[in-house]
Amino acid sequence: MDSCRRAAAALEELALLSELAGENPFKVRALANAARAVLRFPEDLEGVSARGELTAIPGIGKGIAGLIEETLAQGEPAALLELRSVLPPGLPGLLQLTGLGPKRVRNLWQELGITTVGELEYACRENHLLTLAGFGPATQAKILGAIEFRRSTSDKHHISTGWHAAEETLAILREVAPDGTAEVAGEVRRFCEVISEAVVVCTDVEPAALLPALARLLNDAIGDGSGQVTGRHASGVPVRVVSVPRGSFGTAIVWQTGSGRHLEQLAARAFSGGLVLAGGVLSDASGREVECPGERNLYARIGLPWIPPEIREGDGEVEAAANGILPDLVGESDVLGAVHVHTTDSDGTASLEEMAEAAAQLGWSLLGIADHSQVAAYAHGLDATRLRAQGEAIAARNGRGERPLLLRGIEADILADGALDLPGEVPLDFVVASVHSSFRQSVEAQTARLVRAVSRGRGTILGHPTGRLLLAREGYQVDLEVVLQAAAASGAAVEINAHPFRLDLDWRWVRRAVGLGVPISIGPDAHEPAGLADVRWGVGIARKGWATAKDVLNARPWPWW
Ligand SMILES: [Zn+2]
Ligand SMILES: [Zn+2]
Repeated sequence: MDSCRRAAAALEELALLSELAGENPFKVRALANAARAVLRFPEDLEGVSARGELTAIPGIGKGIAGLIEETLAQGEPAALLELRSVLPPGLPGLLQLTGLGPKRVRNLWQELGITTVGELEYACRENHLLTLAGFGPATQAKILGAIEFRRSTSDKHHISTGWHAAEETLAILREVAPDGTAEVAGEVRRFCEVISEAVVVCTDVEPAALLPALARLLNDAIGDGSGQVTGRHASGVPVRVVSVPRGSFGTAIVWQTGSGRHLEQLAARAFSGGLVLAGGVLSDASGREVECPGERNLYARIGLPWIPPEIREGDGEVEAAANGILPDLVGESDVLGAVHVHTTDSDGTASLEEMAEAAAQLGWSLLGIADHSQVAAYAHGLDATRLRAQGEAIAARNGRGERPLLLRGIEADILADGALDLPGEVPLDFVVASVHSSFRQSVEAQTARLVRAVSRGRGTILGHPTGRLLLAREGYQVDLEVVLQAAAASGAAVEINAHPFRLDLDWRWVRRAVGLGVPISIGPDAHEPAGLADVRWGVGIARKGWATAKDVLNARPWPWW
């Protein structure tokens, strides 16, 4: 009965959204019961309604009968449209995760401001759920598992997940063809912030051995008969392996790595030199393949030096290469340490000592501690007394000559008007200034807010400048050009937040910041020792934004100002 199904669906959604909105539980239950009653009702509701007999159905009172009439007349009751417009649009999506009912979702929204799956995932990873009544570590882990499962079936993935899938594929290939070459290509190698597949190019693999070997790692692995195997990694990332003869490896990996625009520009140069670059093969005028065992061979054949993969976007790099002015991009080995690290003093899971030890293990010579400021109550933000005590512990440790050198800092909330939540008289080496609230200001207000924050000048680092969460949440509306100009004028720095869910500043704006001479801080925003290694993703984004070591604050020895 179509009319019964439609009315039941409307009432059910109304029950759910009413509960999310915190309405009277009796009303919520009445709606849910009515939905079940009309779904089971054996007769078409149009006729019942025409006879004015809806209230004769058990569980249907006058109010609900009115809602059913509206559904029959106009598709949906006005109350439902109204609720949808007042609730955050991502909220109902949270209900689809196992372990989350309306009560819990409402709690997450009201207490932690979580309205999307992405925000929820981020909060789980930072242990914020543990601050809520009724959410223990087991619940948090269960929710995280449900989110991961959901992500594994979506078609876009974080760069970190892409690298993980690519590296596991590489390991298999190196096992089956120890004398061959195998390298990561595609968006993963270009360090795109989100990726849709992982590509690996290899040589010297027995065609008959390739598929069975990859089937150990990839689900639904299939070969296409021409040396290409595709499948899906357990993380959900589609993986494509391209196997080529040794003499074609250089051309193949360039072809599988560059963006469409980069490849077009290479093809144009090849053409003007009497060669043809097409379909992943370089050939001469007679159509014979020109062998290029390595990438450098291919670039040299078309009169260019090797171009770093991260910048192969067709955005001026071919021209720069031709003119011999490619930037000397910052590398992981240039990084001396990092600032923007949390400890158990705020919402980190490891002590100052443990974080320092983990940094030493990475070979870092400096580490900047930046726990949350006071207004971030959800993260146990530090007041002046606790901040001073932490600073004294840091100074004492440095005084004993222990490595790495610890810097005293704070992640200060940028308040709604652009002032910083900063205790005045505590000595600090740096301040990471971050927006954690009032996301929905107008572009003008948000821009003025960030301009005021960066105008504090040297010693200030604008943390995760747009607040975006990749695949989850857009950043707030802000005119970054104006903010970067203000930072350039005042001497403030901007962060590339290296957490793979953020990678904020976006690499396109990194290039602009570098152009304006705004120093970049690659900050891990680590909440646990393992998080320090996220600097890797930030370095990739810095490279993608054409940053050299001299543009990066944490590639310079302390003091910076
Ligand atoms: Zn932050
Ligand atoms: Zn942080």
